Amino acid sequence: MEQRSYICLNCQNPLRLEFAQRRPDSADSEKKSETVITEALTGHSRNLMKLISDAQFPSDAPVCNDCSDALVKEMDAQVTTLDDEVKTYQTYITYLKENHPTTAIPELKAKLQNVADEERDLELQLKKLLCEEEAIDTELQTKRRAAEASSETSTELWKKYRDNLRQVFDDQDELHSLESERQYAEVQHRKLIDTNVLDLCFHIWVDGIVGEINGFRLGYLKEAPVEFTEINAALGQIVLLLEILLERIGVQHHELVPVAMGSHSYIKLRRNGNDIENYALYGQGTPLSGSSGIDAGIRRFLQLLEFLLKELKDRNKNFKPPYQIHAESLVDNGVKYNAVMTLNTDVRWSRAMALMLTDMKAACAQCDALRAPI
Ligand SMILES: [Zn+2]
Repeated sequence: MEQRSYICLNCQNPLRLEFAQRRPDSADSEKKSETVITEALTGHSRNLMKLISDAQFPSDAPVCNDCSDALVKEMDAQVTTLDDEVKTYQTYITYLKENHPTTAIPELKAKLQNVADEERDLELQLKKLLCEEEAIDTELQTKRRAAEASSETSTELWKKYRDNLRQVFDDQDELHSLESERQYAEVQHRKLIDTNVLDLCFHIWVDGIVGEINGFRLGYLKEAPVEFTEINAALGQIVLLLEILLERIGVQHHELVPVAMGSHSYIKLRRNGNDIENYALYGQGTPLSGSSGIDAGIRRFLQLLEFLLKELKDRNKNFKPPYQIHAESLVDNGVKYNAVMTLNTDVRWSRAMALMLTDMKAACAQCDALRAPI
């Protein structure tokens, strides 16, 4: 029996083996075996299990008893584990076979095809929807910009509306103010209408024998002499008043025209458009002391006054002058008072002038009454 020394492939302990049988090609085999063992020991590149499995003779893969016991044990454990795995796979295969029979595969393939088709359709639909979304986004942007612009316009319009409203309120305030002013003016206007302007402008006052107009006495008494300058001024006032009254009722004497020139007033005689003569209503010297030169003027004035009173009576039948005029006299209770100075007394002339002033005052009031109501 041949004995040779080996080392355990696993733990590297020396082994002593007895070979009952040798391989026919022992020399080559031993050489190869040694080479393999050397590779296994030096490079650790070979799997120990593979070496043992590939060995044809114990000498090809020498392992001690301890190590082989351990290996067997480990292999048993692996076999158990693999058995468990096999059982698990078997169970799973059974389950699959039961639930997914192989006959359903074409059907499943068809279903898969359908699902794939459906997926493609859905992808196309998705693309289409994305395109639509993009278009809608663009439209949304456009509309948003339009909305912003519209909002700005709205703000502008609102500001304008606010300004206009303020203007309206201001205007209303102004309107109310103006309305108040108008009402005040109307009241004032009414007061003025009710006022006889002529009465204000030509204040005629008769108290006693001598009357006066606007503070100028028209009369003469020996005990209270009045100078011609004052008489001339008074005559100027009554000529002006007569002129205004004729103008008021819109009439003209056919040939006599009163010309008011202050203290040098006169009555003009016109015939056929030609000035024939002027009759002075102003004198000088001492009144009632001979020829004063105003008698002709006073006669013409009385003519005009009579004409005016007649015109007023034509317009209002109820109007009755206080004192009638008769030629160159004024009549009071049937007594004639001569208005000219020649051959007259101071008292009678002064009385005639006072009666004439009273008639003028009455004419003035009648003229005012005839005014058209406003
Ligand atoms: Zn060993």
